[in-house]
Amino acid sequence: MKIYLNGKFVNKEDAMVSVFDHGLLYGDGIFEGIRAYNGRVFRLREHIDRLWDSGKAIALNIPMTKAEMEKALLQTLAINKLSDAYIRLVVTRGAGDLGLDPANCSEPTIFIIADKITLYPEKLYTEGLEVITVATRRNMPDALSPNIKSLNYLNNIMAKLEAKRAGVPEAIMLNAQGYVVECSGDNIFVIKNGIVSTPPASAGALKGVTRNAAIELIKNKLKLELKEELITTYDLYCADECFLTGTAAETIPVVKIDGRVIGEGKPGKVTLKLFKEFRSLTRSTGVPINKK
Ligand code: PMP
Repeated sequence: MKIYLNGKFVNKEDAMVSVFDHGLLYGDGIFEGIRAYNGRVFRLREHIDRLWDSGKAIALNIPMTKAEMEKALLQTLAINKLSDAYIRLVVTRGAGDLGLDPANCSEPTIFIIADKITLYPEKLYTEGLEVITVATRRNMPDALSPNIKSLNYLNNIMAKLEAKRAGVPEAIMLNAQGYVVECSGDNIFVIKNGIVSTPPASAGALKGVTRNAAIELIKNKLKLELKEELITTYDLYCADECFLTGTAAETIPVVKIDGRVIGEGKPGKVTLKLFKEFRSLTRSTGVPINKK
């Protein structure tokens, strides 16, 4: 496996960063998780735009152009001969001293890892997931915007730990006001009486690339009403259907929340239709990997 690291391709064993890197010392950095399907990268520019926005928000100037970053990412896939992959793109503040001040960091560390994707078992797509709401609240947007995809994921990890302790794979997180926000690594949607709802970014949810694609498909292909609105645990428990979206998970049905059976306890019609539309979108669009 070859890793892109600061402009060069190096072997996995040689892909090292300094222990003085502020990405490691403070979680001071940003990242994207991106998918390639069937030789094409899904919504590449949208991910790169979000990375640049995350950089802007933390005053981290990425020392290359968006086009150069895209090229590096496509080359990483090509060099590793991958056509279906999960790509992790990371930009850290770089190596500095032991203080917080980013001004003492020389230059950002940039690396791109392209690997085979590990998915949720296929069974969960046909039978649905059980999830719980957890005590760990999502970061308050006025303290640290959840739209900054930063290297500090402890908030999400605390939620994930709670879910795993309860024997379920994902955690639903509420915000400080008790409204449903998102999961530790996925966005959430509910369907009631044919209307699809998802929490707005202002409630503290990440504007997921898969969420955006799902919203488009729901409106344009499924021709259903889509509301970005505050939802409560009551809305979850009484939903006809519920599903999660994320780059790794794609769209995945939820059939049980906090011990309550959702709808009929199996993936709902809308959820299954959306899954089909999403799979066809990911396999028919995207930036081609130019294999040399
Ligand atoms: N919320 C959080 C907290 C996430 O980490 C992710 C995964 N990046 C998502 C939602 C889903 O976003 P996307 O569809 O862009 O992968």
